[in-house]
Amino acid sequence: MARICRDFFARRAPERTWILENSWCGRCELPDLGVEEPVEYEERGRVYLEGLCPICHGRVALEIVDQRQGTRTG
Ligand SMILES: [Zn+2]
Repeated sequence: MARICRDFFARRAPERTWILENSWCGRCELPDLGVEEPVEYEERGRVYLEGLCPICHGRVALEIVDQRQGTRTG
């Protein structure tokens, strides 16, 4: 299924900060490093953020779960 591009920077600043602070780099094995050059996209009804780790410059991706939704179905 094709990715649907979304505009990460259309989000409000506190939301962007929260999302970036919840990143995880599998190569560094460290959380909360942030994401450089973040690109947001939707795939199969889920929203992801992909970018580069500021430490190792490896690719990092995380799922964005809308905070306003208490539970997620599907
Ligand atoms: Zn890293």
